[in-house]
Amino acid sequence: MADDIRDITIIGGGPTGLFAAFYAGMRGTSCRIVDSLPELGGQLTALYPEKYIYDVGGFAKVLAKDLVKGLVEQALQFEPDVVLDEQVQALDSAGDHFVLKCAGGLYRTRTVVIAGGKGAFEPMPLKCPGYEEFMHNGVEYAVRDPEMFRGRKVMIVGGGDTALDFVIMLKDVADSLTLVHRRDGWRAHEATVTLVERAAEAEEIDLRTFYEVRAIHGESSVERVTIFDNRTEKDTTLECDAVLSCVGFKPDLGPIKSWGLKVEKNRILVDSLMATSVSGVFAAGDVVDYEGKLDLIATGFAEAAVAVNNAVHHVDPTARVNPGHSTNMKVFKE
Ligand SMILES: Cc1cc2nc3c(=O)[nH]c(=O)nc-3n(C[C@H](O)[C@H](O)[C@H](O)COP(=O)(O)OP(=O)(O)OC[C@H]3O[C@@H](n4cnc5c(N)ncnc54)[C@H](O)[C@@H]3O)c2cc1C
Repeated sequence: MADDIRDITIIGGGPTGLFAAFYAGMRGTSCRIVDSLPELGGQLTALYPEKYIYDVGGFAKVLAKDLVKGLVEQALQFEPDVVLDEQVQALDSAGDHFVLKCAGGLYRTRTVVIAGGKGAFEPMPLKCPGYEEFMHNGVEYAVRDPEMFRGRKVMIVGGGDTALDFVIMLKDVADSLTLVHRRDGWRAHEATVTLVERAAEAEEIDLRTFYEVRAIHGESSVERVTIFDNRTEKDTTLECDAVLSCVGFKPDLGPIKSWGLKVEKNRILVDSLMATSVSGVFAAGDVVDYEGKLDLIATGFAEAAVAVNNAVHHVDPTARVNPGHSTNMKVFKE
């Protein structure tokens, strides 16, 4: 048992958890972040470090990895304890505090802020021969480094923001790029759809709507992909040595499901204080649900601030929920 009990333990070191850690430090509380991944940054680090983000305050555009760098610097100025590579498996109440159980130890805390995102990054599979066989050997679901795709014949599968963002990112890096989508409607930002449609008109990409993947072929790695027109069932086989499958992630809260919190459709239900159904446990970011919830970094930041300020008040009821303006805080003058 780590006997240094913390005021606030944040489960998840994505953008929401990092901003929550900053807030906890700014409010003068002791804080610990625990994440199951080996690096901080959540989805930004694990799935799209080299992608530009255009919709966080203060940046006209910022690479995901640079946003994480700034968030880490901001959060670590108050020296929270950072525990990586540790999944929180259980959350047990111990009277006036909680005990978090991880494989590597037990962590005591007065309050908890769950910022666990969509849980494990388990991609939805393409249900076709070759998908499992060539995973990470020609088949990928994230772009850690666009250079991996330089000069390759790339096929991107999907019609959401992720697929279309990666089309824009890779169209000038790949030797050729085919976008395969099973219908002609998109679940993506209008501006990105316009860019993709323009790239298709300019023949910079090969756009195949109403197509699906039949099979991925190759000897030791991907060499060809057979796609079919789902209106006619007619097959077409294309030369391709990299398939990027962007058909979504299986939302799975993992162990969080069994912590006795009110959960619906793999999301923790919270009220306007970001409080869960268990007193002292707050949640923020992609992991939560309430009417009007948006899965965005910007909303995660705001929810983190609300969750932490209410956790501070929970630990010390004489502490105000409203932190006041940071400019006037003593902590920054020290
Ligand atoms: C390709 C792509 C592009 C995107 N582009 C944008 C964009 O341009 N703008 C925008 O606003 N949003 C964008 N998003 C969405 C954005 O990434 C998410 O809204 C954001 O990451 C949510 O942050 P989070 O901290 O709540 O969760 P996450 O980033 O998912 O982090 C959650 C962390 O919790 C950890 N965790 C979970 N369970 C446990 C446990 N039991 N124990 C320990 N650790 C645990 C995970 O390992 C993870 O590191 C994009 C998403 C994708 C996939």
